[in-house]
Amino acid sequence: MTRPARALLKWSNLRHNYRIARQRTRHEAYAVIKADGYGHGMTACADALAGEADGFAVACVDEAVRLRDAGIRQPILVLEGAMEPAEWQLASRYHLQLAIHHPQQLRDRAAVVFDEAVAVWLKINSGMNRLGVRFSDAPEMIARIRNDQGLILRHVMSHFSSSDEADTACYEAQKTRMLGQAWPVPLSLSNSASVLRGGVEGERVLRPGIMLYGSSPLEGVTAREAGLRPVMTLQSALISTHSVPAGESVGYGGSWTATRETRVGVVAIGYGDGYPRHAPAGTPVNVAGVRCPLIGRVSMDMITVDITDAPEACIGSPVELWGELVDIDEVAALAGTISYELYCRLTPRVPRTNLQ
Ligand SMILES: *Cc1c(COP(=O)(O)O)cnc(C)c1O
Repeated sequence: MTRPARALLKWSNLRHNYRIARQRTRHEAYAVIKADGYGHGMTACADALAGEADGFAVACVDEAVRLRDAGIRQPILVLEGAMEPAEWQLASRYHLQLAIHHPQQLRDRAAVVFDEAVAVWLKINSGMNRLGVRFSDAPEMIARIRNDQGLILRHVMSHFSSSDEADTACYEAQKTRMLGQAWPVPLSLSNSASVLRGGVEGERVLRPGIMLYGSSPLEGVTAREAGLRPVMTLQSALISTHSVPAGESVGYGGSWTATRETRVGVVAIGYGDGYPRHAPAGTPVNVAGVRCPLIGRVSMDMITVDITDAPEACIGSPVELWGELVDIDEVAALAGTISYELYCRLTPRVPRTNLQ
């Protein structure tokens, strides 16, 4: 028997979620597929959306070049822009659009020549204080870009630091700061959380990421409530079942002790696959259609589950760790992280199976 752990990828759900982003606002949307498409496979994501995405966004020039080499022809925005002069030449050659977030990038650009002009997005620091130029420096940056024959200023962009929180004060303040300026080109502001809040009146291009994969970044709103469908289902199977009497412990460190005679199911999945080691006892696992609690510590290759309430479950029974039946956002919250990280940490040991 081959190891049963696998990730099923339902690409029709990626298209469905992309359409939700577009319909909510009727803006253009660049699908964010950085970090290997949030662990789903960057080129597979791009292929699945090639018929409808207005463009794609990735973190770095390397990722963008890989998309071009895979035959992707849509506009591609590089969110962190060029990191050295040679990347400006690559951007020109591969028709990449670059964010400019620092004057150093213009100094790098001045060190090289290239034939075709490069479209750029000026990134403003509107309050997150990570990347971006301050409002007071924006006019000079805009003038320098516009005086450069090799550059085309396409958009002004900014990124929200707290658009996912129930308290929207920071989000509103950042929006107000961005909308309070007269910009010479259209704006791009919204990430998924902002898209799900309805987007920002007056922007042109959205940059949805996590929502495309079917997870909700919004505090207090589940993916299902937002109409999103999970692209990835992480599944495996039971490889052993047995009973332990009340009073005995299960797993490393004996951290979980049975309070009743308990039927234990052993699932072939662990942190070596990317299942979070910090998932506590009680984390939901679906075994043969029944929601069962994780018990004991997560091991490298296995987890243990209380299957007392799933009497039909036996060796070979299907198990879902997250996806259609188990909300990844619930697993992530219990494990003290976010779905973004769970997706990105799925290891290459887990084979991907593509579904239409
Ligand atoms: C990653 C990223 C996004 C997408 O964010 P989500 O929360 O996944 O929707 C948008 N814009 C920028 C600049 C990003 O880095």
